[in-house]
Amino acid sequence: MAATKPKRAPFEIQGHSVVAGTRALINLPVGVFINHAQVDLTLTVIHGRLPGPTMLVTGCIHGDEINGTEIIRRLVKTGSMKRLRGTLLAVSIVNVPAFLNRSRYLPDRRDLNRLFPGSATGSLGSRLARVVTSELVPRCDLVIDLHTGAINRPNLPQIRVTTADSSALELARVFNAPVIVLAPQRPNTFRSLCYAEKKPIILYEAGEALRLDANSIRHGVEGILSVMRHIEMLSQRKTAARKKKIDPIVCEKSYWERAAIGGIFTPLLALGKSVTKDEVIGFVADPFGGNETPVTASREGVLIGRTNEGLADEGDGLFHIAVFSNLDQARDQIAASNQALPDTNDELDDHPVPYDPFMEEVEPTDPPEV
Ligand SMILES: [Zn+2]
Repeated sequence: MAATKPKRAPFEIQGHSVVAGTRALINLPVGVFINHAQVDLTLTVIHGRLPGPTMLVTGCIHGDEINGTEIIRRLVKTGSMKRLRGTLLAVSIVNVPAFLNRSRYLPDRRDLNRLFPGSATGSLGSRLARVVTSELVPRCDLVIDLHTGAINRPNLPQIRVTTADSSALELARVFNAPVIVLAPQRPNTFRSLCYAEKKPIILYEAGEALRLDANSIRHGVEGILSVMRHIEMLSQRKTAARKKKIDPIVCEKSYWERAAIGGIFTPLLALGKSVTKDEVIGFVADPFGGNETPVTASREGVLIGRTNEGLADEGDGLFHIAVFSNLDQARDQIAASNQALPDTNDELDDHPVPYDPFMEEVEPTDPPEV
């Protein structure tokens, strides 16, 4: 029986060929570990039957920011990938050496996200950056890069986008995270490289390092699927799950409320909540039973990041507060973006991971079908 001729040319990379309508896991060689084991960048290619854009999604450029890895794991398992138009390139663990060490940084203590564009003859991290720069970026049309806050410093799900990058800002709005933060360029970052190469890039920041949290993961997966529908890699949902089209509020300014004194720190404000000027949002207590010093908000805004540590030295950043010109609108957007998430027993939530043991119970779902 004669096979039907594929409508698209195969996706080709370093001698590998992925036929239209199929997917593949491809190892791109980067270097050699100290034990002589090969360091590879493992790339998932889903090459749709029909032509369309090529989107690159990257996770774990910082090796301990594992929400991104989980977001990509769920994304590539989504049933609608079978009907993909265009090509999805997904790297769930960019910084393999750091991931193995459960560390943000490379084994030589460098930050991979300061080594772009990298060099084929440089350090391990520089070579990693080079493989991304030379093999993946030229093959894609747009990029979504997934990050989290640092250890013990969770971020409210938010998109960071380069100031004045209007095409990326449009994608950021479609992603529909609770907050969009405009960020200036930082030299040698993946974001600045993509910007220079004229590939629109949005950076998703959600949750904290080394911890999976259901909200950040669900916002991430839903956001990527929204972008894929918007650029017609996926067809629109038949039933409009997003009842209300909201214009996300862009934050242009944010500040850290810092500890005025060292001691035992207790926060009184959850991520995503708004604060008024002079509101008491936490306190720092003298460990010997003396004074409790209140922490107050110096400006009104929304809490987009926080330390979860119970200890603070004088000057430590405690609360990251975003300032908006229209706080009511910002509050509405945060609420609307949460309502836009599908129910927890949706197929994407095959293993809900509650962020906080004291939060409301997450209903267990049936294990995924094999
Ligand atoms: Zn990061």
